[in-house]
Amino acid sequence: MAEISGNGKGCGQATPKMMTADLGLFNQLLEMVDGDWSASIQGICRHIHNHFDALGVSLTVYDRTYEEFIYLDYSINPGLPDIARTIGITVNRDTAIEIVKKIHAAFPGILEEKIFTGRELLDILDNYFGGDETKISTVTDRAGLKAVASFPVIETNRRYRCIFHIFTDRDVNDLDRALLDRYMPQLDVALEIVFLVRELYIKATHDGLTRLLNHKQGEMMIASEIERVKRNKMPLSVAMIDLDHFKSVNDTHGHRAGDEVLKKVASILSDGLRKCDIISRFGGEEFLVGFIDTDLSGALEVSRRLKEAVQLQEFCSGRGNFSVTISMGVVEYNMAKHPTIDAVICDADNKLYAAKSGGRNRIEY
Ligand code: GH3
Ligand code: MG
Ligand code: MG
Repeated sequence: MAEISGNGKGCGQATPKMMTADLGLFNQLLEMVDGDWSASIQGICRHIHNHFDALGVSLTVYDRTYEEFIYLDYSINPGLPDIARTIGITVNRDTAIEIVKKIHAAFPGILEEKIFTGRELLDILDNYFGGDETKISTVTDRAGLKAVASFPVIETNRRYRCIFHIFTDRDVNDLDRALLDRYMPQLDVALEIVFLVRELYIKATHDGLTRLLNHKQGEMMIASEIERVKRNKMPLSVAMIDLDHFKSVNDTHGHRAGDEVLKKVASILSDGLRKCDIISRFGGEEFLVGFIDTDLSGALEVSRRLKEAVQLQEFCSGRGNFSVTISMGVVEYNMAKHPTIDAVICDADNKLYAAKSGGRNRIEY
């Protein structure tokens, strides 16, 4: 969830600050060390917020057709969440996304370079609040919203489209516009860097076919979970999963169909897990799972569901319909028994081997 942040400015009238080129934006980008773009995008929003006399700034990221909403982050003055609460809006990332979606649906122009003020702004508020005058005046009088300036960046040839919305409690004039036009190339470069680093990060940590974490990253994340459970004494379980007779799937239906099966099985497994669980593609047709804060019996319950879900999935190729099964080895982490991550994985792998020799399509623990 995005942290709500502000620059400590009040909501009253103020003289616009000059936006000068400085390296602050790029320094903020350097904060981005883990490949997650939230921190850096938040940094960019905060940067604009601080350099422009604004009530708030949001950056929305869409796919190129504006159909898929990808991401939103923002920075707003600290008083705004309280004002929003009085009209029944909780400001957090989820509600902000809902607000943007709703406004976008009724006013597609909100995604183009444009300044919404006066009647046009009132129309947006009127539509959003279903004509509720109290709510509209809370936004215009108490929060003081006077204009929303919409500035798309990264327009050409890119996978994403990004739109900054700058909310002000004053009119946005030609001077602001000129300053923003000068500032936009900087933002363009900054966002390019964010996306590039993010793509590199994803490539380095994820498997290209299944989009799951790769072997190294999966192992690293389970290793850090082990460090955590050593301290908090919560349970942790690990499963090694392998598709049964997958070679014959390739042989019968072709390698392309085999790839599709791998992708589908990966998504069934990951959909069947909680968000906090860890799943990686460990090898060709093997997956490693970490069940967070889960003891053996909990992990077995989920494992049975996963196994059944995979088995129920039907596939079809030119050679006809078919289904696949998986075998699983499940263990609960035990500090005495598993001094290293390799020991846990090896234990799960031995159980998997037992499941295979016991006839496949089964779980050993
Ligand atoms: P078992 O039940 O003992 O696991 O039998 P199996 O046939 O699944 O096991 P084996 O290890 O003999 O074969 C694994 C097969 O997985 C062989 C390999 O071609 C296939 N495989 C590994 N990675 C990929 C991939 O990315 N795509 C496709 N299509 N096949 C893959
Ligand atoms: Mg196999
Ligand atoms: Mg295998």
